[in-house]
Amino acid sequence: MFEFSLQIDQRKVNWENKPLFLINYVCHLMAGRQNPMRPKFRVLRRGICASMLMKKLFGPSFHYQLELRTDFLLTGASALSSSPMTMAGVARRHQTLMKATGRSSRLSSVESKFMFSGQRLRLARRRKGLSKKGLAEALAMHPRTVTRWEDDDRSPTDAELDKICAILGFSRDFFFGEEIDEADVEAASFRSLSSMPARYRDAALAAGSFGFIFGDWVEDRFNLPALDLEDLSGETPDGAARALREKWGIGEKPISHMLNLLESKGVRVFSLAEDTDTVDAFSMWRRNKAYVFLNCIKTAEHQRFDAAHELGHLVLHKHGGPRGREAEHEANQFASSFLMPRSDVLAQLSYVDTLDKLIAHKKRWKVSLAALNHRVHKLGMTSEWEYRTFCIQIQQMGYRKIEPRGIDRETSSAWQQVLSDLRNDKITKSKIADDLALPTHEIENLVFGLANMLSVEGGGAGDGVKRGKLALVH
Ligand SMILES: [Zn+2]
Repeated sequence: MFEFSLQIDQRKVNWENKPLFLINYVCHLMAGRQNPMRPKFRVLRRGICASMLMKKLFGPSFHYQLELRTDFLLTGASALSSSPMTMAGVARRHQTLMKATGRSSRLSSVESKFMFSGQRLRLARRRKGLSKKGLAEALAMHPRTVTRWEDDDRSPTDAELDKICAILGFSRDFFFGEEIDEADVEAASFRSLSSMPARYRDAALAAGSFGFIFGDWVEDRFNLPALDLEDLSGETPDGAARALREKWGIGEKPISHMLNLLESKGVRVFSLAEDTDTVDAFSMWRRNKAYVFLNCIKTAEHQRFDAAHELGHLVLHKHGGPRGREAEHEANQFASSFLMPRSDVLAQLSYVDTLDKLIAHKKRWKVSLAALNHRVHKLGMTSEWEYRTFCIQIQQMGYRKIEPRGIDRETSSAWQQVLSDLRNDKITKSKIADDLALPTHEIENLVFGLANMLSVEGGGAGDGVKRGKLALVH
């Protein structure tokens, strides 16, 4: 009988009598990507030995050099010995086993490239704001089918995948890739989770996942500032704000640019382009890196406060701590104290008797009128009655929607620098999008719309940007 051998990790493994998994896999590799999620030989009876099939298919001298992880193949082989499974099912079984044994559960890029990813489908669907039922209706299919795809119980056919791509606006390539880290709703600190419709929340979280992969892509190429945050979970919000200012050597000075400050301290800041203000900013820790996502539909002052609020979550609630309203209250207190230090406010505003006085002074701290009104009251500078009166006036004058003497919106310097360097290297946004298999507009959404400049010949985004803050890795 012909002996089929496969060279894996320098080891020659004799796959005689190994089950169908290997055959499926090799067929994928040989067949290219015509229809990678429907293994031709899935239905083959167990018991046919690999070598016979290989001989039939590829002739008697078939050798294939594969850079595959041996454990993946072996796990797949043992999984298949009990029942026939799809490739995705094998992959899932493999991941479960790897997790159980404490090894990396990630499939290599070679492995994942050939498998339809239910997780990626779920992300794309959520990004589009669709429920499983919604996607099923758009496809004229049963919702259970969508569930099966997302659970990796089965994979869509080519024709079905074409429809999915058209509905969700993602390329086929997106659905064949490594698992993407998900921005977990538990880890994200949404301010008003209960009043936020789930589909808005999930769409924002999916954008967060794309932020992770875009951030990783950038970090493979650039040295971004290292993280310089401290765990201040034992502190009060006021104490944490003071401690952080001290650590960063800011003293009592107003923060001139909140977003630049975060970026210079190694926090990855992305924009959310949700066209609804029901989605709050959110932040999270991932692999010991800090991420902040800001909703840019709000006023410039609100966006700054959101950035400071999320900073509060990052330093106060890294290891859990209070959840829900209490955590939100603490983050607000932190932001208020961080943006408007007690001694500076007292020094600048000795006496507050009119709203105009607050309007005249708020520019110093670049905060909203409402935030300053709240702060001076908390510092004991106005009575409850004055505070309430000012609140009513702010409401009546429409200052909650349009800030009097508004400031310019802050945008990202880090991404601007990165994109400018990429442009010099003739790397377009569509090249980035291609690399990540994401729609180009998703990249633009994440980087405050700055990616637009990549398509503009000689755009001025590079002007005035301090160089040398970021260093190209290779
Ligand atoms: Zn919050």
